[in-house]
Amino acid sequence: MSASFPHGVDDPSPYPQARTVEDFTRNLASVRERIADASRRVGRDPAEVRLLPISKTVDEARIRLSVAAGCRELGENKVQEAYRKWEALSDLEGLRWSLVGHLQTNKAKLVARFASEFQALDSLRVAEALDRRLQALGRGLDVFVQVNTSGESSKYGLAPDAVEAFVRRLPAYSSLRVRGLMTLALLSSDQSRVRQCFVRLRELRDRIRQALPEGDRVAELSMGMSGDFETAIEEGATVVRVGQAIYGARRLPDSHFWPST
Ligand SMILES: *Cc1c(COP(=O)(O)O)cnc(C)c1O
Repeated sequence: MSASFPHGVDDPSPYPQARTVEDFTRNLASVRERIADASRRVGRDPAEVRLLPISKTVDEARIRLSVAAGCRELGENKVQEAYRKWEALSDLEGLRWSLVGHLQTNKAKLVARFASEFQALDSLRVAEALDRRLQALGRGLDVFVQVNTSGESSKYGLAPDAVEAFVRRLPAYSSLRVRGLMTLALLSSDQSRVRQCFVRLRELRDRIRQALPEGDRVAELSMGMSGDFETAIEEGATVVRVGQAIYGARRLPDSHFWPST
């Protein structure tokens, strides 16, 4: 199992805890530099890649330090944790909250209140629940459709074959602004197998872009985390979701946040 959790509790972590604004400034600069290097390697403009800092499990005091160092967007995996932080940090202006984890329909109401983005859409029931709540509040939400590119039966996300039909249904939910596709690659130290997941998502995006009418197309690719964001950028990522390389290692293994095999 330990190979599945390269940065888990049992392994010495390559990600030291960031505890000061200077730590965050340094970590952000280093991640941005790696984004720029990876982009240039494949002839892409680094400005095409958006860095979404993932602050799950990080307490509010440290999130404040990261905001002082320049984080304006925050991604969270669990709705209640995100909502609690949104309330506690409401004195900070211009923060944008993104949910990147699985959502149950009974929590759609909470998401509609505070989130700017939801990256793990994989059911029409959730789309419908979100849309109803958003309409009532007069709000909109950017959404990404989560795709299971690793073939692990325990992972959330739609099977690649089901994505086009799913995306065709989404214009019915007018408060949802469909931005693109999101995936979690295999948690593996074998970079070639990780890369295959990213390639699969890009090819799927390209096929859907051709098949759908102009207004309904998906453009963005949210893929890559601390351990694999450079590979993801080489394969076309337009959003990378980076937690540990900015905030430091988490004590909880990744299996706490999404099902693993
Ligand atoms: C935690 C998380 C990330 C970030 O992972 P790190 O290893 O901290 O970079 C990215 N995406 C999702 C869906 C997550 O839950």
